[in-house]
Formats: sequence, structure tokens, C-alpha cells
Amino acid sequence: MGNALSDLWTSHGARNEYRVLMWGLWYSGKTTLLYKNLKGWNNVTPVSTIGFNVESVTQNEHNLVIWDLGGRDKLRPTWGQYFSGADGIIYVVDATEVHRLDDAASELASLLDFVTSNKGVANTPLLVFANKQDLAGAKSPQEISEALKLRAIQDRKWKVVACSAANGNGVDEGMNWLVANLQS
Ligand code: GDP
Repeated sequence: MGNALSDLWTSHGARNEYRVLMWGLWYSGKTTLLYKNLKGWNNVTPVSTIGFNVESVTQNEHNLVIWDLGGRDKLRPTWGQYFSGADGIIYVVDATEVHRLDDAASELASLLDFVTSNKGVANTPLLVFANKQDLAGAKSPQEISEALKLRAIQDRKWKVVACSAANGNGVDEGMNWLVANLQS
């Protein structure tokens, strides 16, 4: 599987193509973001599915290969395999699930511990989607930023963008920010 993944990375390794990894707690909306929004919003060609979702999307004439790793604990030991080749990270939070924000913060802290100690991805930009803004009680980007303790992050650019994977609001804004920072 390692070789197959390396080959897949290599086949998408040309400039103007970026590898973006998506993570977040289960049920936060990753699959909906990837398929309902990104797939419907631009030309999308499925690349492969190897136990999780991988899609190629175009944003501002740049090709992104987005890996939705599913947020499952069993994939955590394989982070090195996936995140080592990442150009950017999308972290999806269900902004309505106040009782899971501590878990979301711990999960992100674990992820950032990993990527900070991995030189290849130490400076990759982090886009946090504060998802499900169409629902009552959704926390604002400011509140999500505080809950996730993002101000402590010094080694990478980050941004929290309010969005709704249900109606698409905010998704383009977030993806535009990510692409702009992948290029810089
Ligand atoms: P994943 O486990 O992170 O991939 O989450 P899913 O994409 O499967 O979404 C979990 C549930 O939340 C599904 O029932 C989705 O329809 C729903 N969902 C996802 N995003 C939104 C959103 O922005 N608003 C609302 N109202 N529901 C959403």
C-alpha cells in the first residue's frame, strides 16, 4: 500500500497541483464538503478510493488532490504516510456540537504535534471550516478559534472560515484562502 500511495503522490506531484489532507471528528461534515460542495462546485475527477475518499478538484486554476481521511482513530498510526506529503490541511469542525469542541481541540492538537515535528509539513497552511452554520446555535469562527486554541499556533498560517456544507455558504471563501496560501 505504501508504494501505491507513493506512486499516487508522484503522479500528482507536478507544480500547480497540491495535496490537501482533510481531517476532523466523525460527523463534522467532511464527506459532505468534499462531495456535495467541492465535487458539485467545480470539475471533479475521482482519483481513487483506498478505504477513504480522494478527489481531484480545481480551484482558481490550481488542481487540488483532496484526501478525506475520515477522522477515524485507526488511521492515526498512518498519519506519517499521508501527512508527510501534504501541502495544506483542512480541519472540519461541527460548530454546533459544543459538547465535542474539547475533543475537536484535542484531535487538532495531536495532529499539529505530528505535523510540527515533521519537517515536510511544518509550515503547511491550516484551514479550519466551522461547519453547519445553517443550524441554530452554530459557534462563530471567533468562538471556534478560541475553543481550538488557535492563537497558540506560531509556525503556520491558519484561518477559521464559517461555512455550511449543506448550502455551500463559505466554502469558496475558505478554499480561496487555502489556495492563496498554498502558493505563497
Ligand atoms: P463526516 O463524518 O465528517 O464525513 O460527516 P458527513 O459529511 O457524513 O456529515 C455528517 C452529517 O452532517 C450528515 O447527516 C450531513 O448531511 C450533515 N451535515 C454535514 N454538513 C452539514 C451542514 O453544513 N449543515 C447541516 N445542517 N448538516 C450538515
